[in-house]
Amino acid sequence: MSLPIPRGLPRTVLRSYGTVQGPPSATSLASRIPNVLIEATAATAPRTNWTREEVGAVYNTPLNQLTYASQALHRKFHDPSAIQMCTLMNIKTGGCSEDCSYCAQSSKHNTGLKATKMSPVDEVLEKVRMAKANGSTRFCMGAAWRDMRGRKTSLKNVKQMVSGIRGMNMEVCVTLGMIDQDQAKELKEAGLTAYNHNLDTSREFYPTIITTRSYDERLRTLDHVRDAGINVCSGGILGLGETDADRVGLLHTVSSLPSHPESFPVNALVPIPGTPLGDRKMIPVEYHGGPSLCGETSDVHLNRWVSHL
Ligand code: SF4
Repeated sequence: MSLPIPRGLPRTVLRSYGTVQGPPSATSLASRIPNVLIEATAATAPRTNWTREEVGAVYNTPLNQLTYASQALHRKFHDPSAIQMCTLMNIKTGGCSEDCSYCAQSSKHNTGLKATKMSPVDEVLEKVRMAKANGSTRFCMGAAWRDMRGRKTSLKNVKQMVSGIRGMNMEVCVTLGMIDQDQAKELKEAGLTAYNHNLDTSREFYPTIITTRSYDERLRTLDHVRDAGINVCSGGILGLGETDADRVGLLHTVSSLPSHPESFPVNALVPIPGTPLGDRKMIPVEYHGGPSLCGETSDVHLNRWVSHL
């Protein structure tokens, strides 16, 4: 009996040999690995002059070849068994003036979420101590804000949290919406390790997901973060209704930045009733990871792959 071919796996290569016939020749195997992937795997330094076609060729490589190349590259630079434990905390929930279609925290959507004020510094530092005792070496904090304009007191409190966490010998990451050059410098001086600001999807698809700020505004925040010497954490969300070309577009954007983001979080949409994307189906389970910063998606940090493209 033959099983139906799973749908939605366009990159699967159907095997035409069984246990009796020999395996495919090395030449036939090699023909399925694009040169650009072979070169990327052999690279000794990151490159930032990728074309969209080259990124598309890597994206369309059969999954097992891609996994193998990715593992080989990862092992060149990292202990393959090492993971980092991070704890994420929402320090200010809901009431956000942005209209991100996937997010329960936007004040534009009727999700029943109750907005809260920012958590006090002491309360946050107490949670950090617990996280450290549980094995985390990085503490990440998310606040549902459009930007930090006119939020002097909040920024002061965030900086106290940052230096308090650094004082416990941990890494610290925040996501506070858009920030300018001066705010980025202040956060750096407080000891911030990384700043999260996701691009979400391709430049072309982006306006169908968010209308209250532009792709270029997001890229500007990434510039400010990078220029201040803070590590950049910037990724996207799968399952928004984007095409493969949009995923390639996002990968192309991040791999062509002046330097690659140190982290590339890949989230999967969890549709929330009351949001414009609330009726979408979740993408297949094999893409899913753990909980996310904003509570609307799941994070899979595939950071090192893009870091070395
Ligand atoms: S994703 Fe962030 S910026 Fe967008 S609505 Fe939610 S909290 Fe606001």
